[in-house]
Amino acid sequence: MTMDRRTFLGNSSLLLSAAALGTAPVEAGQQPMTPNRKHRLVATEEAFATPEQVEAFRKCKDTLWHDPDVDLWNVFLTSETLMRRLLDVDHERISIMDQAGVDMHVLSLTSPGVQLLNADTATSLATLANDQLAEMVKRHPTRYAGLASFAPQDPARAAKEIDRAINKLHLNGLIVNSHTNGEYLDNPKFWPIFEAATACNAAIYIHPRNPPAAAAELLKADVNLWAAIWGYQQETGLHAMRLIVGRVFDEFPKLKIVLGHMGEALPYWLYRIDYMYKNATLIYNNVSGHRLKKLPSEYVKDNFLITTSGMNTHPVLQYCHSVLGPDNIMFAIDYPYQESMEAARFMNSAPLPEPDVEKIAHGNAEKVFHIATT
Ligand code: MN
Repeated sequence: MTMDRRTFLGNSSLLLSAAALGTAPVEAGQQPMTPNRKHRLVATEEAFATPEQVEAFRKCKDTLWHDPDVDLWNVFLTSETLMRRLLDVDHERISIMDQAGVDMHVLSLTSPGVQLLNADTATSLATLANDQLAEMVKRHPTRYAGLASFAPQDPARAAKEIDRAINKLHLNGLIVNSHTNGEYLDNPKFWPIFEAATACNAAIYIHPRNPPAAAAELLKADVNLWAAIWGYQQETGLHAMRLIVGRVFDEFPKLKIVLGHMGEALPYWLYRIDYMYKNATLIYNNVSGHRLKKLPSEYVKDNFLITTSGMNTHPVLQYCHSVLGPDNIMFAIDYPYQESMEAARFMNSAPLPEPDVEKIAHGNAEKVFHIATT
């Protein structure tokens, strides 16, 4: 079932509510939030855009192409606040960081990065964005670090760009926005990307985007569960599971993958994933076609880090801490899509042992993304 454009835009405007952009007016009788500075905060999933990227999305908008991310950007482009905040790194962003007591943003090109575009355009846009990102970091070396983009559409050139971005531009890690044209990184044709990332000791943040059109339609029609309310974690959790059962970590045991949103639900599912993998062999031997060297949960613990982006809830943090330990969790806000002040308050008041909060608030990010400690 399809939605007409008006219904679609009406429903989608929920995604762009003032609250979602961190500009919600304070309701009568409510106290404005104040910062509760305590820890150094390095936020690890913080989006920016380049003018060239926005222009590319504008061009997609003028076509009849219906990718769910094109549809989403048709809405995003109507928000002046969102566009201003994505395109700014020198003014408003730093003052919002200062207000909330956030020391550093680890910047990454906003979703879906360059992955909507053809291989040539995507490759040159990623190169340009990485150059611009390196300049941003150079202008504000104590406030920003950066994750480099690459175009999986052309794995060989992506591998070269990864090497350049890490070894020449000295960016801090890598970002990819889940699938590319409906294909996932467990497909061995993409493995030059993992070779390059492990050779550079660069972690790859797998950030959400909408699933391919057919799957997105099931999340959109009638229920409007695409994008960040549910569709993103479904898509990105699937991607992570595909890497595990696709033997990527048996092939690249040193590879580090970062997942936002408290691990896109993976930590919650570990028991059942292992149980079914061990016991439902009638189904799962046939599905994966081979045995893994370790249990799925062991790869989650050994090869993944998760971030708190957009999940400012202490019970989930405590759960993830108890399952994954203090070394595999990093603070994130998801600026400008979610609230900086709320995220900072959540982190500074985390009900965990102080040394563990220090690791989560900044220490793990400094280690994984090779950020100089000040
Ligand atoms: Mn995000």
